[in-house]
Amino acid sequence: RSLGSVTIPPPACMLRPLEAPLRYLFGPGPSNVPPRVLAAGGRPIIGHLHPEMYEIMNDIKKGIQYAFQTKNNMTIAMSGSGHTAMECAVFNTVEPGESVVVAVNGIWGERVAEIAERMGKTDNRMGLCPSVQTLAKHKPVLFFLTHGESSAGLVHPVDGIGDICLRHNCLFLVDSVASLGGAPLFMDEQKIDILYTGSQKALNAPPGTAPISFNERACKKMFNRKTKPVSYLLDMTHLSNYWGCDGKTARIYHHTGPVSGFFSLRESLSILAEKGLENSWRQHKEVAEYLWKGLEDLGLKLFIKDKDLRLPCVTTISIPQGYNWRELLTYIMKHHQMEMTGGLGPSVGMVLRVGLMGYNCNKANADLALAALADALKVCPKSKA
Ligand code: PMP
Repeated sequence: RSLGSVTIPPPACMLRPLEAPLRYLFGPGPSNVPPRVLAAGGRPIIGHLHPEMYEIMNDIKKGIQYAFQTKNNMTIAMSGSGHTAMECAVFNTVEPGESVVVAVNGIWGERVAEIAERMGKTDNRMGLCPSVQTLAKHKPVLFFLTHGESSAGLVHPVDGIGDICLRHNCLFLVDSVASLGGAPLFMDEQKIDILYTGSQKALNAPPGTAPISFNERACKKMFNRKTKPVSYLLDMTHLSNYWGCDGKTARIYHHTGPVSGFFSLRESLSILAEKGLENSWRQHKEVAEYLWKGLEDLGLKLFIKDKDLRLPCVTTISIPQGYNWRELLTYIMKHHQMEMTGGLGPSVGMVLRVGLMGYNCNKANADLALAALADALKVCPKSKA
């Protein structure tokens, strides 16, 4: 074949420059990324197996240990979004036929139940906290709970659950994608066996990396399996080596990690370390309370009535009567260049969601969000809901 014989021409769109508008990302994530983190991600890349990269990965590990409040050696960042960490947790600790119990307090429990089902094993869904009876009856190897339920705007209490799981020889897996840095969580003290999060919410890094940590009990279960995990890419035997957690001196190629994503993640963990977790938690609480008051002053109703159960990172607002929620959101995007979102999974059609996380979490942004909502409520035609 001659070199000039392509039949599919270069697409016209590829000959135009990239367009990505500046927007206020005040939905449930991704959040705006601060210039410092953007700059870190824009640095020239190095090889994923260079010694400098190992140092960066070691730093990331320490940053995650701080953010999670854990001393766990088996602490890494997944190459992939929050879902990658969800699948990694389930695929590595559960063998076919074993039982998983999932607390469903919004969409994320449903997702984990579906991930567990895909392995061809039984799962049992339930309401909120695990009851001793549920664990005694189903004898699960894993119990899953979402700490910050971004679809409901709920923060679920964690204290005491780890003890119940320990007593029933069950691993306690917690999703903190939407809560890490925004609401207090103490992996070791709260006896969480596996904890994961995402890069793109209160950490303010671009989407695409996901911190995860396993304690000794979880390692014992996952490294004493009879069968191999269903995923090669997510197999912790390989990933623990790639992250230098397996005690071996040589790290062997497994996959090519997202080098720029790790640069950004390191910078975002560094910002959290400089600021301090307590300050970050305090800031999210204060700004959320300011936002909640402003929303109520606009005549809006908050979806989660109990203040103590509201997630400071993502606020859910009941859709005001007589309004079409899609029109409100479209108007706000068009006239205020601001993303807010509707519900997700079970909360679709029930709520609007406003997220002010990390870098976005300040009263000036809360004022912008409130002004956009006030404008939309005034302008958008009523009663087509
Ligand atoms: N868990 C929760 C609580 C989330 O809010 C999200 C993202 N919205 C995820 C898991 C999944 O994360 P990702 O979209 O990064 O895969």
